[in-house]
Amino acid sequence: MAKSKWVWHTDHTMQKKEFWKQFENQPTIVLLQGDITQEDTDAVVNTTTRTFEMAGGVDKAITRAAGPGMKEACAQYGSMETSQVIITERFNLASQYIIHTVGPVYGKEGGKEAELLAACYKNCLWMADQYNIRTISFPVISTGIYGYPMDEATRVMARSIGGYFFDPANMNSTIEEVHCVVFTEDKYQIVDEVFEELFNRNDAWSQQASFCSTLRLISC
Ligand code: ADP
Repeated sequence: MAKSKWVWHTDHTMQKKEFWKQFENQPTIVLLQGDITQEDTDAVVNTTTRTFEMAGGVDKAITRAAGPGMKEACAQYGSMETSQVIITERFNLASQYIIHTVGPVYGKEGGKEAELLAACYKNCLWMADQYNIRTISFPVISTGIYGYPMDEATRVMARSIGGYFFDPANMNSTIEEVHCVVFTEDKYQIVDEVFEELFNRNDAWSQQASFCSTLRLISC
């Protein structure tokens, strides 16, 4: 089994940690603090609204960086449901593609928040695989104007991403690296602590157990 530990990287703009592959078909999960519009991964995930009207900070930043063509391209789809995804070209972003999804509004989804949030991550990864994408950057979906508590949302994110690659249906995924991009220092600290707890176990058994509980949660 490959080593599994967080590795600190210092680049000029960001704090960055990597969680190395544990299993052959697992990608590297990278935790970053920074602005998602600066990512040069193959795809960047945008959190939008069901009618593609301007949403929170991520949508504003990506729309500003991508240019007006992005909203026009989204508008052609009319609308989409919570957790669904569409993909557009990158417009002026460095990434090749933008994958747009709608996160659940915390406390407004009749108790289905976690399920809907998990589906956002799963559907984004599925869409990325349809386009043979190797690297993808996520914000922590629903933790801005949609009000999801950071700790809870991070657990769903980690388990959803881990669970996707553990699913035999996704054995042939082309994704090699998943970036979780957190904007602010205080939110980054929360994600870091949760990732340490969920991923940075020293023994193989607890890693296996952690990913298996991921799978159980996903399949509920
Ligand atoms: P949502 O509607 O899903 O709640 P928001 O865009 O309001 O979406 O926020 C989602 C998360 O992304 C929040 O934690 C917010 O702090 C963070 N965020 C805001 N701007 C950026 C950015 N430029 N890059 C990365 N994350 C960002």
